[in-house]
Amino acid sequence: SAKAQGRGKAVFFEPSMGKEMAERVLLAERLRMALGYGGLQLHYQPQVDVKTARVVGVEALLRWNDPVLGNVSPARFIPVAEASGQIVALGNYVLDAACKQIAAWLKAGTPLRVAVNLSAYQLRQVNLVEQVASCLRRHEVPPQWLELEVTESQAMINPDQGRQVLAELAELGVTIALDDFGTGHSSLAYLQYLPLQRVKLGREFLLPSPCRDRLMEGIVHMAHALDLEVVAEGVEQNDQLQLLRDIDCECFQGWLHSRAMSADQMQAWLAVA
Ligand code: C2E
Ligand code: MG
Ligand code: MG
Ligand code: MG
Repeated sequence: SAKAQGRGKAVFFEPSMGKEMAERVLLAERLRMALGYGGLQLHYQPQVDVKTARVVGVEALLRWNDPVLGNVSPARFIPVAEASGQIVALGNYVLDAACKQIAAWLKAGTPLRVAVNLSAYQLRQVNLVEQVASCLRRHEVPPQWLELEVTESQAMINPDQGRQVLAELAELGVTIALDDFGTGHSSLAYLQYLPLQRVKLGREFLLPSPCRDRLMEGIVHMAHALDLEVVAEGVEQNDQLQLLRDIDCECFQGWLHSRAMSADQMQAWLAVA
């Protein structure tokens, strides 16, 4: 309780907290409107083959430009969407928009696999598998063009249920990727417990440190021993990319190649590539 934390820490009357709460209420309100006025847009960040430098897919990242609040980052509004009960609607919107875009790229003759981030709340959504299946059907998208990203902590809130849902999704033919691997609190055992095809290494692994290269090499080898493909996130520097080449990491995402861009920008880029 606030009292137990001692004098001067009365949590309820912290002015900064009132401000924080007011901001969350405002964000939740604006977000609800944004879902209505179409203020949310998917942008796409290329996933690049380390050896060939070819774009092998994209990650869909949600962007929100609000007339009142300006640009709000997903790191801020996803937790608000989760807390205010909007994440399932938001998640369904994202799935639908991604499948629609996959269909458009297929039709344009520039097919791209799109990876979509799932929230822990969506994994617990009773009809998630049916939602994904019907979304693919609606847009006539073959499942191999859709990838779903979950984090360890999301999948392991309820390990049996997480594994079951992911297995059913994999059964549909979509790819499952473990996002931000190694940055949460879970155990290496999950790598073989969950039905995964890819692991994404958080950008923390690429930050300078004395044993960075050996740690990266060990993780990539371990992943390969488990038949998992590795995607390195947050590649900003050439020396990081060189390391990925040296240790046979398959794929990377990062500003060194490009930031997330709108579907139109991506389309224009694909046309000249
Ligand atoms: P994430 O899924 O791990 O996405 C990767 C984040 O790293 C993105 O941030 C991307 O813009 C950023 N990034 C990419 N390359 C670089 C780089 O070279 N350097 C650095 N410093 N950052 C890089 P973003 O777009 O702000 O998204 C943050 C997080 O919000 C995502 O992390 C994901 O967890 C969540 N998110 C985004 N879109 C969605 C969505 O549609 N649904 C759900 N549930 N979560 C989403
Ligand atoms: Mg992700
Ligand atoms: Mg990530
Ligand atoms: Mg993340």
